[in-house]
Amino acid sequence: MKIILLGPPGAGKGTIAKVLTQYDGSVQISTGDILRGAVAAGTELGKQAEAAMKAGNLVTDELIMGIMEQRLQQDDCKIGYLLDGFPRTIPQARALKTLLEKLNEKLDCVLELDISRDVIIDRLTTRRTCTQCGAIYNIKSKPPKVDGICDVCGSDIVQRDDETEAVISNRLEVYNDQTAPLVDFYRQEGLLLSIQTSDSGPVLEALKSRLR
Ligand code: AMP
Repeated sequence: MKIILLGPPGAGKGTIAKVLTQYDGSVQISTGDILRGAVAAGTELGKQAEAAMKAGNLVTDELIMGIMEQRLQQDDCKIGYLLDGFPRTIPQARALKTLLEKLNEKLDCVLELDISRDVIIDRLTTRRTCTQCGAIYNIKSKPPKVDGICDVCGSDIVQRDDETEAVISNRLEVYNDQTAPLVDFYRQEGLLLSIQTSDSGPVLEALKSRLR
């Protein structure tokens, strides 16, 4: 599968991507995870991305395309990939189209998770992430066994800097302004599959009938 997962922050793209990777060995590629790794490691890339990420703004298209041009040519992408958080702007989508033409590859579909703003804000403000292994918790629906401690690796779990209510509002605004136009872009390309849930069962069914 070569799929783009589209949807606002907190729509469940990462969770769905993880479920889908189990099907055929396609890899999940999350630009957010790549950037967070670079920030944590203090690399040049991390330094360039950090301020925009903390404020909930997008990093530049050039930076992202630099990462993705390399990443999509790595061997593990041959089986397939689930793009989680990329592309996020029309220029990124156009650059991806050009890159895929050059690599002689085609996307199977663009899966849009169309989730309401209230659900997103509630989900993100209650989400907690392990500082070490990245495991995701939710203080309402999936709390860790011991408060503040990761069940998987025993490290601290925290609220991400960009998951406070103020930053989330900005991220949603950025999504509406810069990323939502991709829905029409991919509809015109004949690739859009839109679904109003992030429950993996119905998402998988919709995807199967689309790819059949
Ligand atoms: P995410 O985990 O996908 O919500 O990404 C976290 C942050 O990383 C975003 O708020 C942006 O600052 C940055 N980021 C991730 N992917 C992209 C992208 N494709 N284009 C620009 N910025 C991105």
